[in-house]
Amino acid sequence: MTGTNDRPDTQLRAVKGMNDVLPADAALWERFEEAVASVSRAYGYRRIRTPIVEHVSLFSRGIGEVTDIVEKEMYAWEDKADKDGRREHLALRPESTASVVRASIEHNLLYDGPQRLWYLGPMFRRERPQRGRTRQFHQFGVEALGFAGPDVDAEVVLLAKRLFDDLGIGDLRLEINSIGQPAERARHRVALIDYLEANEQLLDDDAKRRLHGNPLRILDTKNPHMQALVEAAPRIEDFLDSESLAHFEGVKARLDDAGVAYRVNPRLVRGLDYYNLTVFEWITDSLGAQGTVCGGGRYDPLVEILGGKAAPACGFAIGMERILELLRATEAATTPSCDVYVVHRGDAASRLAMRVAEGLRTVGLDVVLHCATAAGIGSFKSQMKRADGSGAAFAVILGDEEVAANQATVRTLGRDLAGSGTQRRVALDALTVTLVDALVGAGEDDDPFDGATTEATDEATTEATTEATTEAAKDAAEPPLTLH
Ligand code: ATP
Ligand code: MG
Repeated sequence: MTGTNDRPDTQLRAVKGMNDVLPADAALWERFEEAVASVSRAYGYRRIRTPIVEHVSLFSRGIGEVTDIVEKEMYAWEDKADKDGRREHLALRPESTASVVRASIEHNLLYDGPQRLWYLGPMFRRERPQRGRTRQFHQFGVEALGFAGPDVDAEVVLLAKRLFDDLGIGDLRLEINSIGQPAERARHRVALIDYLEANEQLLDDDAKRRLHGNPLRILDTKNPHMQALVEAAPRIEDFLDSESLAHFEGVKARLDDAGVAYRVNPRLVRGLDYYNLTVFEWITDSLGAQGTVCGGGRYDPLVEILGGKAAPACGFAIGMERILELLRATEAATTPSCDVYVVHRGDAASRLAMRVAEGLRTVGLDVVLHCATAAGIGSFKSQMKRADGSGAAFAVILGDEEVAANQATVRTLGRDLAGSGTQRRVALDALTVTLVDALVGAGEDDDPFDGATTEATDEATTEATTEATTEAAKDAAEPPLTLH
């Protein structure tokens, strides 16, 4: 390209519904990632990472042929032929439960006893992008494999609750239901289809399409014109046997014991075929129509469906972006921050600066080294502006004089720090200890230099070397710079 007008005709853009996560959001994402790791650990769940690409058959068997996900939403393709002319039918994963179960079977994880697992990663569904709904999104989920009782159902609900509490998200309500066992559901299904057929003139197109494939999902409709119809539909609970009812009572009793409020919603069903008994959702009213932030429940049939030895299972998936949107509402914008910003001028100082930065990182400090742009390295003044904007507590300034004297100039930054804008010379071999001590005590006291002789300056120095060298040498011999 030659000039600024020499642009390609079409600007390259991200794929529709697949969003970039920009650095401004990095802190928010990290907060979520740290919270899920710590809450999972608190309940004894261990992380599992499965591939993003799987065989289509995993999802058609594991999620169900007649679900929206498999029917309409999956990114699937015939891969290039291998040397024998065979083509694999592959898909980007639309969810992770099937993958986690596949991996558990493939690697015999259940041989060692029941497993508590969690995952976090991108999922892909070709849906109409809108608020709270994208084509690449992220889910945090847990899967408890090999546990049969209501205790683990309650456990995963409480794990989700603890995560929301840790993140400071209070505005969520819990809905639960039992959808019974396949045989009970089959009896309910017959009654439901009879009822819906008798009222066929009231069904919308979506419902008509689902009537014989997945009628349970019709109960989940968001169409306001069908609410009265589904309200009066046969209820699954009237088809549950005593064992299923006892399981449901067991879950509710444990939630009561934990003081968790919930509402039994008899119309709550899950979109995937493999659920049984407990189903639940955590819902918010602050995100408009896309208010479900977590969906989960029991899926005892799945392990066997996917070819394993039958084992009960229970879990949930949380839509990360929806949670982050709730968090964003509570969070002030975070500014970037590091401990130290290193500025420098001159060849020798530039090389020294990199060594100093490496040394400080080795002891665990977060250090940003000023590096040249296309416009060059910049004056000390412009470098100090960068240092101020970096959020660092200290600037380390290196110029010819510092190099000659084997010293660095340390300057306090940051509006919050008492004594900001004061600086002093420090011997290079005392620099690390000086900065670590100062950072450990940051903000605890008024005097960042702990009584040491200092020279206060109101503006960034244009040259680091404006300090009196005799004064600096004297400072260097004094105890390390501290803030306490
Ligand atoms: P919905 O009814 O919103 O389509 P779902 O039943 O398809 O949800 P699940 O498969 O249970 O959703 O996934 C669990 C969670 O993942 C959802 O509650 C939601 O928070 C999130 N999620 C699902 N699909 C998307 C998407 N396309 N974009 C963003 N988040 C999503
Ligand atoms: Mg969906």
